[in-house]
Amino acid sequence: MTTLTNPFEIARETLRLLATRRIPPTPDNYLTLYHEISGTKPALEAFPEKQLRSLAAALPKSTPDQLRLARQLDEAVKAGNWDNFRTHLAQFVSALAESQKLAWSDLIGNLIRQWDSKHIGLTAARKRESLEHLLTSAGANPETLFTRLQSLVKSWGQGKENESPADADASVPEPNISTTPIANPQQPEDLLPELRELFAFTLETAIATQLIESPQLSNDAKQLAGDIRSARKLEQMQDFLTRLKRFAFKLELLAEDQAELRSSLLNLLRLLVQNITELVVDDSWLHGQIDIVREIVDKPLSQRTVDDAERRLKEVLYKQSQLKASLFEAREAIKQMLAGFVDHLADFADATSDYHNTIEGCAEKISAATDISELQGVLGEVMRETRTIQLNAQRSRDELRSTQEMVKKSEARIQELEQELEATSDLVRHDQLTGVLNRRGLEDMFNKEIARAQRHDTLLCVGLLDIDNFKKLNDSMGHDVGDKALIHLAQVCKEALRPQDTVARFGGEEFIILLPETPIEDGIVALTRLQRELTKKFFLNDNEKVLITFSAGVTQMLPDDTQATVIKRADEAMYQAKQTGKNRVVSAP
Ligand code: GH3
Ligand code: MG
Ligand code: MG
Repeated sequence: MTTLTNPFEIARETLRLLATRRIPPTPDNYLTLYHEISGTKPALEAFPEKQLRSLAAALPKSTPDQLRLARQLDEAVKAGNWDNFRTHLAQFVSALAESQKLAWSDLIGNLIRQWDSKHIGLTAARKRESLEHLLTSAGANPETLFTRLQSLVKSWGQGKENESPADADASVPEPNISTTPIANPQQPEDLLPELRELFAFTLETAIATQLIESPQLSNDAKQLAGDIRSARKLEQMQDFLTRLKRFAFKLELLAEDQAELRSSLLNLLRLLVQNITELVVDDSWLHGQIDIVREIVDKPLSQRTVDDAERRLKEVLYKQSQLKASLFEAREAIKQMLAGFVDHLADFADATSDYHNTIEGCAEKISAATDISELQGVLGEVMRETRTIQLNAQRSRDELRSTQEMVKKSEARIQELEQELEATSDLVRHDQLTGVLNRRGLEDMFNKEIARAQRHDTLLCVGLLDIDNFKKLNDSMGHDVGDKALIHLAQVCKEALRPQDTVARFGGEEFIILLPETPIEDGIVALTRLQRELTKKFFLNDNEKVLITFSAGVTQMLPDDTQATVIKRADEAMYQAKQTGKNRVVSAP
């Protein structure tokens, strides 16, 4: 059969076939037959947007499920997606039927059981009264009726009367004594006891424990927790809310007070630091330390920075106490010297004025003298006086010289003390050459990091690095250049690592690196990056590039580890790196 293309012919043929096949001439049948003859497909029917929209608008929207359905239908209409529209609607209706069927039958069964049971202090008349009250107030809305009835029956089951229907929502029993299987565990009403408990828990543990310094507020929080736990009635809830608001207001005030206190304390600290600087004008080491403390207190506060500031301040204080003793000695010596000098000056002045008087007297005697024998006596007097004054002057000079000697010795002693302090004091936590932590500083920091890792259950990674062929560098370029290379390495380490990482000089040309919250793989990456940094930021000696490399061992702190065992493991890995060609990072299993 040839396919017709002319619409007239198709229409005629359609009518002919309708008649010959005896098909009722409805528009649908005509259309089907028409397409059959023309070999075309029926055009998609227009999406009945207007009708579907008005259907969606007419559906109730008083529960979360209904609201969700309305939203889904709306989206389906917007997308012109009939399949989605149908699926959502069908799902909703079947879920509704299912849940209502289950829940109502259970609920009614339970109602009959509780109606027939005897409850202490609950007469049949009271039960009827509660039930009638509930039916009049919630009978119009099946869902409200269902939840309130369920809660009423539950309250009978617990041997107590339900409150007025208005309170019903607040009186859901504890989940562990529920007798009715819950049809839909996601009902918000069923979550109320859990939410109440959660609230109480938050007040008790998260809030009360943060208020150690305000016992009154801490008690308030605990009391509020108790109240919300036992609140069953609406009035209790409202009372709770009022007191919670008052509590929150007090908390706000406390936070303001604490912020003010913190800023005053910081100012105090700044003032102190400033004062210390003025006290120790001559000591550049102390100045350096204090500048670091000042820098730290100027940054946003964290436990780590405060720890750091504390450590450095302790060093400053310790060193100051040492210096004070020495300075006291020096001051005493200078005082003594001055006192002696003034004494001698006075003696000398007395002596010279006596001398002048005597000499003047002698001069008069000489001019008045008439014979040589008189002159002899005067001359003897002049000689005696002159010798005395000479002796006095000499004595003064000697004493002055010995006092000067004493002061010089005191000064030398002060210098010696300072040097001794820097070289041997085991209270100092920083390496004087490189400025990073020394062994003692490392020990403290290590303990802190171990405790922190345990407290937060995080991983602590430990690296040990040793400069390659350092002896050769010292031998070829001199010890001073070696020192500068160490300073350079420490600087690059500090720049390349994160602020929370620790760099410490462990020995001559060995450094320990602590990497908190770091799994070993990341530790390897960090040390490898450090190696790369060293090749980029090379060490310059008199404009000559000197390449420094290191070998490193990395390991992870394990639960049974001590500082010694973990360092030993890192050291063994570092040794392996040396053995296998240097300038590499090896991890310990
Ligand atoms: P390797 O690659 O095997 O580590 O060889 P190395 O030469 O680096 O190691 P070795 O332990 O033989 O030598 C370390 C050198 O480090 C010896 C010592 O003089 C030098 N050193 C230690 N402390 C200092 C310091 O404070 N300043 C200087 N300039 N050198 C130091
Ligand atoms: Mg070494
Ligand atoms: Mg070495």
